[in-house]
Amino acid sequence: MRLRFAPSPTGQLHVGNARTALFNWLLARNRGGTLILRIEDTDRERSTHESERGILEDLRWLGLDWDEGPDAGGDVGPYRQSERLDLYRAHADRLLASGHAYRCFCSTEQLEADRQAARAAGQPPRYAGRCRSLGPEAVRLRLDAGEPAVVRFRVPAHRDVTFADVVRGSITISTDVIGDPVLLRSDGHPAYNFAVVIDDGLMGVTTVVRGEDHIPNTPRQVLLYEAFGWTPPVFAHLSLVLGPDHAPLSKRHGATSVVEFRNRGYLPEALVNYLALVGWSPGGGDELLPLEELARRFSLEGVSHSAGVFDVEKLAWVNRHYLKIADRERLCALSLPYLREAGLANTLSEAARAWLTAILPMATAAVDRLDQVPARLALVFTYDAIEALAREGVRAELLADGARNVARALAEDLASAPPLTDREQFRAAAQRVRETTGQKGKALFHPIRIVLTGHNEGPELDLLVPAIDTGAALGADSGLAPITGCRARAQAFVEALG
Ligand code: GLU
Repeated sequence: MRLRFAPSPTGQLHVGNARTALFNWLLARNRGGTLILRIEDTDRERSTHESERGILEDLRWLGLDWDEGPDAGGDVGPYRQSERLDLYRAHADRLLASGHAYRCFCSTEQLEADRQAARAAGQPPRYAGRCRSLGPEAVRLRLDAGEPAVVRFRVPAHRDVTFADVVRGSITISTDVIGDPVLLRSDGHPAYNFAVVIDDGLMGVTTVVRGEDHIPNTPRQVLLYEAFGWTPPVFAHLSLVLGPDHAPLSKRHGATSVVEFRNRGYLPEALVNYLALVGWSPGGGDELLPLEELARRFSLEGVSHSAGVFDVEKLAWVNRHYLKIADRERLCALSLPYLREAGLANTLSEAARAWLTAILPMATAAVDRLDQVPARLALVFTYDAIEALAREGVRAELLADGARNVARALAEDLASAPPLTDREQFRAAAQRVRETTGQKGKALFHPIRIVLTGHNEGPELDLLVPAIDTGAALGADSGLAPITGCRARAQAFVEALG
């Protein structure tokens, strides 16, 4: 089985296209097939090297690889359409010679006038066929005179074209609705439908898995296979990925490209696992599975033909799972850019890095994405007693005498106690405050939380308090934003309380 993913390098890799790449990959790996990466860069105005580089990087980031491609090589290259122009020309000549194609000299203005006339007559705007029966002599004279010409395919009249689609069953379209398509433009560049058939044909592609937006192209392609005497591949058209309003997923729904999801702090294994679940189910009640296992279970027959809605909530759920099981060092490296951007970290000392690695699960266990880590860690870095007391919830809490007593007792205790650098130190301090004030449970720990963090809620105190005091002990050259320790916090709070 030979499969291909054929992106056009005209922008960032859309998650819908990433899913197409993934389904090709899953099928290739399931069947021990070969996956080809082909760059469809014949749109010279919109294709860029930068986009091609980005697409390759995004695919690799997702954990997808390919066996043949512009970088990987292979026996049936080149794998960039812009490097295959000679092949397209030679194959257009073949069709001209066999009468399956003809030269067309119609100008853009003529074609536009034809379209308008067809529209006015209530007919579909397809090529009127003016140059279909030009004699060879007339063609030669006009070519010799330097008149620009395109090569058009001669679509056979009154025929039904049928192709098998693994996802949707058999599809039949009458050739009467198809105008003669352009194969080669006057500058020698191929049209999409032509290049794709030459490439899939010469590259020995046996199964084409692509988006359903290409269904209208497929009959034209099937007719071209016929004209060359080639067997068409098996087709599988995947339904599009839609936004929650059932319109194709686009900018107005938020992030759409792989790189945008990456920048928001989704892990690649989460995004790729989630994309596999859009329109396909691995079965057995499991959804959270590594790529290899997804490949083991994959089949095109199991792919749904109804549209897949992109569900950000579900993606967040998948991402939370992978954040929980991810290696801490990796999470630290991946979180650093966000902490830098938030002004909380710079180049970290080794001790600061170790500290961050140790405390990070406190944040990553409670977020959907890594870009939310700085906000989750804000309680460690920023403390302002006056601001805290201005918060309504905090003020209300401190109206009770018991709470004020806890605040004062804590400040007094910490003034002479060692820093709360581990859970035991913190528990011991809390126990002493409990003994001095007689408060316990929520009446003890809630005011302690408010005094030490300035907030009503946040991560577990057993984790948060030691994180604060070990962070505060790191000192000025740690590369971290300055951290106020618990002793100074409690003191400032009681002062602000008056
Ligand atoms: N280059 C086309 C696209 O990006 C894909 C063509 C195909 O898969 O046949 O939509």
